[in-house]
Amino acid sequence: MRILVTGGAGFIGSHLIDRLMHQGHEVICLDNFYTGDKRNISHWFGNNNFELLRHDITDPIKLEVDRVYHLACPASPVHYQANPIKTIKTNVLGTMNMLGLAKRVKARFLLASTSEVYGDPLVHPQSEEYWGNVNCTGIRANYDEGKRIAETLTFDYLRQHNLDVRVARIFNTYGERMQENDGRVVSNFIVQSLRGKPLTVYGDGSQTRSFCYVSDLVEGLMRLMDSDRTEPVNLGNPGEYTILELATTIQKMVNPNSEVIFNPLPQDDPRRRQPDITRAMQWLDWKPLVPLEEGLTRTIADFRTRIIGN
Ligand code: NAD
Ligand code: UDP
Repeated sequence: MRILVTGGAGFIGSHLIDRLMHQGHEVICLDNFYTGDKRNISHWFGNNNFELLRHDITDPIKLEVDRVYHLACPASPVHYQANPIKTIKTNVLGTMNMLGLAKRVKARFLLASTSEVYGDPLVHPQSEEYWGNVNCTGIRANYDEGKRIAETLTFDYLRQHNLDVRVARIFNTYGERMQENDGRVVSNFIVQSLRGKPLTVYGDGSQTRSFCYVSDLVEGLMRLMDSDRTEPVNLGNPGEYTILELATTIQKMVNPNSEVIFNPLPQDDPRRRQPDITRAMQWLDWKPLVPLEEGLTRTIADFRTRIIGN
């Protein structure tokens, strides 16, 4: 098949491309390199099945493909809040352009949505039936509401044009190739620890997140794409940790001498987050296989090579 991966030079997109290339598909990687990096996909340069397009999805583009994995969008709060209006344009105009592309060529379309559609959830753990609790005027809204409208658009293309759609609600994912300056918690703590700097816990660290290793997530995305389910599906690891627990785990694994310090909690930071993955287990026969410490070991090794060089 010919498969378009938007955001393919990013963290998750590049791992997905590796799997698709190994399966023998033709892959078009489309990216504007806002948070992506050519190094993530450079090992495919020169392969006849691989094409790289520098393009911003807020501008329309016509491509002949069988499937679209639509991942293009900055995912880290630091990056999506740096240019919030651009983030909204990427989610709204960009998603509309990619849906239009898929409609024209009757391609199957998978949206990389997010657990952020649940906002600061009042239901725990979060199942797909929950409608969420999002502050539409807050600093996270450009991303949260952007993804919510991206989902709305996707389901309107299904209802109005019978587009063949899939929607993955991705929970916090980590692994090799996260950017050093990404600003997300796993990369921050590892980079800080490796550099002998204090680990910056925001608030008192009692807020929780559930961390999924990237190979598990990519397997879930591919199973969802291959399934016949058009409803949203949560993809994440139900193992729930406080941020302070994560800090002390990484501290022990990287540098027990590093210090943990407490900084102010950002506005609208969700208190708790844990996926209910019943749908993914039943519909896709999927569950995460890589435990946190194993995934962290691999991620730390990758950062160590990039930062320290051995
Ligand atoms: P990432 O920032 O590493 O990758 C996003 C990619 O999209 C980058 O390569 C970036 O350059 C590209 N991009 C951004 N705006 C673009 C535009 N206007 N035109 C073309 N390309 C553009 O992030 P990631 O962690 O790989 O996330 C990928 C997708 O998964 C995103 O849609 C994100 O919202 C979603 N997601 C990720 C997580 C996570 O924990 N990693 C959680 C929930 C949802
Ligand atoms: N966080 C933290 N220190 C950091 C970065 C993040 O304590 O250096 C916290 C952040 O406040 C949030 C959690 O870690 O409660 C996850 O943050 P991240 O930016 O990774 O993603 P989010 O799930 O908030 O989108």
